[in-house]
Amino acid sequence: MSEIYVCLTFDFDAESAQIRQDEDPVRISKGQFAVQRGLGRILALLAKYEIKSTFFVCGWVAEKYPQHIEQISSADHEIAAHGYLHEYLDKLEFNEEIIVHEHTNQILEEMVGKIRGFRAPYWKLSQHTLTIISEMGFIYDSSLMDEDRPYVYSVPESPRNLVEFPVEWFLDDWVLFEQHQKTPNEVFEIWKAQFDALLEMEDLVENRKVLTLTCHPCCIGHAYRIKVLDRLIKYMKSKQAVFFKMADLASDYLL
Ligand SMILES: [Zn+2]
Repeated sequence: MSEIYVCLTFDFDAESAQIRQDEDPVRISKGQFAVQRGLGRILALLAKYEIKSTFFVCGWVAEKYPQHIEQISSADHEIAAHGYLHEYLDKLEFNEEIIVHEHTNQILEEMVGKIRGFRAPYWKLSQHTLTIISEMGFIYDSSLMDEDRPYVYSVPESPRNLVEFPVEWFLDDWVLFEQHQKTPNEVFEIWKAQFDALLEMEDLVENRKVLTLTCHPCCIGHAYRIKVLDRLIKYMKSKQAVFFKMADLASDYLL
C-alpha cells in the first residue's frame, strides 16, 4: 500500500449566503451556528489530532468576524478565498466578478498575508473565474469534479497554471447530512469507503493519492456530526494518512 494524503477543508460561510439572499432570521441563524459553535468544535478537533487544514472564507465573513479569522490563522491553518458574499459567480458580469475576487483578496490579505487558493461558492464557476484567479497570483483552485486526485490545470488564455484539487458531492458534509439526512454511520461509511478505495488502488502509484473532504462549520459542527469526523480522522491516522494544508501540497505540483 502506498502513501495517502488527506486535505480536510472547511468552508466558513457563516450567514453570508443567507444575507445575500435576504432570508429570514431563522435561516440566517442557521448560518451563524458556524460562528457560535461549529468553528470552535472544528478547531478543537484539529488541535487534538495536530492537523493543519484549509479554511475557505468569504470576504464579508472575514470583515464581520475578524476575531474568528485570527483564531483560525493563529492556529496555523490556511485561509483561502471563497467569494465576497457567497455569490453565484456564473451569474455575474465579467467586471463584477473581478471586483468580487479583488475585494475579497484585499480583505483577506490584510488580515493573514498572501492568499494562495480559491474555492467557488456552490462550486459554480464562470467561464472566466480560473483565468482571473490565476492572473491574481493564486496557485490552486478546488471546485472542479473531473478527477479524484490533484493535477496541474492549464488555464485558458493565461501563461500560468493552477493546481486543481477536485471535489465531489459525496465528499461534502452538507449534501450528505443536510440534503440527504444520512445517518452518522452512513456518512462515515461513504467517506471511509472512498479513503480505503484510493488507498488500495495500485494504478495511482505515479500520482499522489489525495482525499479532499469539504465540510462546513454550520453542518459538521453539530454535536453528533463532529463525532463522525473525529472517528474518520482516527481511522485515517491508523492507516498512516498524512494531513496537509492545500497550499503546501499545491506548491509541490508547480515545482
Ligand atoms: Zn460556501
